[in-house]
Amino acid sequence: QATFPKPAQTRLIAVANQKGGVGKTTSAVNISAALAQAGARVLVIDLDPQGNCSTALGVKHASGEPSVYDVLEGRLTIAEVKRPCSDFPSLDVVPASIDLSGAELEVAQLENRNNLLDEAVQTFLNDADEHYDYVFVDCPPSLGLLVINAMCAVHEMLIPIQAEYYALEGLGQLINTIGLVQEHFNSNLIVSTMLVTMFDRRTLLSHEVYDEVKSHYPSIVLDATIPRTVKISEAPSFGQSVIAYDPHGLGAIAYAEVALEIAQRSPSVLDEIAARMKEA
Ligand code: ADP
Ligand code: MG
Repeated sequence: QATFPKPAQTRLIAVANQKGGVGKTTSAVNISAALAQAGARVLVIDLDPQGNCSTALGVKHASGEPSVYDVLEGRLTIAEVKRPCSDFPSLDVVPASIDLSGAELEVAQLENRNNLLDEAVQTFLNDADEHYDYVFVDCPPSLGLLVINAMCAVHEMLIPIQAEYYALEGLGQLINTIGLVQEHFNSNLIVSTMLVTMFDRRTLLSHEVYDEVKSHYPSIVLDATIPRTVKISEAPSFGQSVIAYDPHGLGAIAYAEVALEIAQRSPSVLDEIAARMKEA
């Protein structure tokens, strides 16, 4: 089995794309699970009122249950709302519930409205008994205040790109928004990773999409891609990552490869990406 290097400092990664259905949640869930399986300590924060990420990791998220909503509004801490994922002892989840859909309006007038998540995450990491290797944030399909909070709380953005005809539509807008957040709120922010999802190796289109994204962002697009598989789409209905649900299947293997490639990105590679983003 390949060795997963552990980062010296906690890596904070938001999974974002304002398009729905491109594989954000699936990727946040399965990359986190693959890293946890390889021995990393991982926290996943569900920031989508749909709570799909919580569901897929088997964590309850009924309305009224302690969740990221209470964290953003300062009622509870991350330490108080995080729940263990039963399949992986080193994986914790901060659930989201439908209550979160009111948060954007409720916090809109606050002076620190962009930094609510950042403040909560920093407090948590500083106070936690254990060291976390990774924190992933699963974003809703928008570019609203919740996503800005994610962008202000992390160093790295991971953008899943679905291998389909309109794949690159909207990507420019997303990159622009990330650039604005970097300029005004979080100079530390970079797009470290793009992942092509629902890749069908038999179709020309899938290869064309991959090649096009790769030619635009050569150092950012991962070599590994995620195939479209039935097991990947079934796993959430069992409250499981595909890593736990079908550990030897194509989906689990692909996400393990992706997780390894992410783990192997050294700080110097990330610095190079940051330097190139500054030039652009
Ligand atoms: P997003 O979070 O970007 O809205 P999801 O991760 O929820 O997207 O994926 C959208 C739908 O596609 C879900 O039903 C999910 O199960 C399915 N899906 C995602 N990735 C794959 C894949 N590689 N193979 C098959 N189904 C997938
Ligand atoms: Mg989602």
